[in-house]
Amino acid sequence: MSNNNIVPLDTYWMPFTANRQFKANPRMLSEASGMFYRSDDGREVLDGTAGLWCVNAGHGRKEIAEAVYRQLQKMDYAPPFQMGHSDAFVFADRLARIAPAGLDRIFYTGSGSESVETALKIALAYQRAIGQGTRTRLIGRERGYHGVNFGGISVGGMVSNRRAFPTLPGVDHLRHTHDPLRNIFCDGLPEYGVELADDLERLVQLHGAETIAAVIVEPVAGSTGVLLPPRGYLERLREIATRHGILLIFDEVITGFGRLGAPFAADYFGVTPDIITTAKGLTNGSIPMGAVFCGRHVHDALMVGPENAIELFHGFTYSGHPVACAAGLATLDIYENEGLLTREATVLDTWRTAIQTLRDAPFVIDIRTIGLVAGIELAPRIDAPGARAYDAFVDCFQSGLLIRTTGDTIALSPPLIVDTNHIDRIVTTIQSALSRVT
Ligand code: PMP
Repeated sequence: MSNNNIVPLDTYWMPFTANRQFKANPRMLSEASGMFYRSDDGREVLDGTAGLWCVNAGHGRKEIAEAVYRQLQKMDYAPPFQMGHSDAFVFADRLARIAPAGLDRIFYTGSGSESVETALKIALAYQRAIGQGTRTRLIGRERGYHGVNFGGISVGGMVSNRRAFPTLPGVDHLRHTHDPLRNIFCDGLPEYGVELADDLERLVQLHGAETIAAVIVEPVAGSTGVLLPPRGYLERLREIATRHGILLIFDEVITGFGRLGAPFAADYFGVTPDIITTAKGLTNGSIPMGAVFCGRHVHDALMVGPENAIELFHGFTYSGHPVACAAGLATLDIYENEGLLTREATVLDTWRTAIQTLRDAPFVIDIRTIGLVAGIELAPRIDAPGARAYDAFVDCFQSGLLIRTTGDTIALSPPLIVDTNHIDRIVTTIQSALSRVT
């Protein structure tokens, strides 16, 4: 049932949305520029979430729009199987230059979920290619989010995304890294919990290293509420994985392209995985695209056999789409020209300090900040978990701020062009929204 005279609300089945609730009281966006959206009713809405963790350079970037338009006129589409076009190669080369050392072989996809499936399949293909075909087991982590395809929900640990569906066999999970008893109000890395990485060692003891192909984690878990890795955790995971011949995959769909103040989380933490998955910020959210960054050793192990044989039976109609590559190249120009992949420490410090002041706001039980990310956790209502954060989200939207919630956590990730005025506005708007939430 539509209650809107102009927009026909009934037919569009919205993703990850309470459709009936939304359609009774829709929130519509119609324009976007810089740090702001404009709502259908003409209000300015500050973007506290970079769209959905993706519009890192801010909205309405003319350079990207023009590149897309030019490319559409020049060549709208080119098949990626046994055919190429120069931008796909040039963009891969540009990406390889900003990639963590050694991760310079790029496989294109259409989204974060596709990047994850691709990474898992490449890991399995790699193990087979080096004569380790018994390694078919995949390890993920509780409260991990790796998209919505079957591989991703299998290694993922977001319960609501998994429970209605069958998942892949031979998958295990590390425990998640959130410890509300020992690590609370963490500005930066939690001090406790490095030993959680030893879960990988335990799984090796349980199943045998010869059965495990890869372990995949988000360096900072985003969609389940901004969960930070304890100091030393990723290093230890790297060490255990290497010792047992297990590939380490970082899902950087959120953390890639400057989110933490470094080009990739791998740079931020000084830990180099074997494969990195990306999407979102790759094209500044403008045209759907993902990319999997593979270690040279992973790639080279598969470049064997007769030269006329296809090395990896995998790919998508839209892999390396010319329009997406054009958008990506224009996006990289902006990131590099404006220094957005390594924003100054002063901005990051201002962000984290300002957000941490919300610790005294009503219902706040924890705040986790890192880079230009924050998770503000509210005490759940016993009768309705998630309701309090949802109410804050609606209140903020009415007051001109877009935030995102997951469970009872408010997750913030503004465009990387954020300045101190925007930060002030984000904090004061959330503060007053929380004072009205019951
Ligand atoms: N991995 C991570 C870490 C993500 O945050 C997301 C999306 N939020 C995905 C994968 C899936 O990306 P997409 O929605 O583009 O398929």
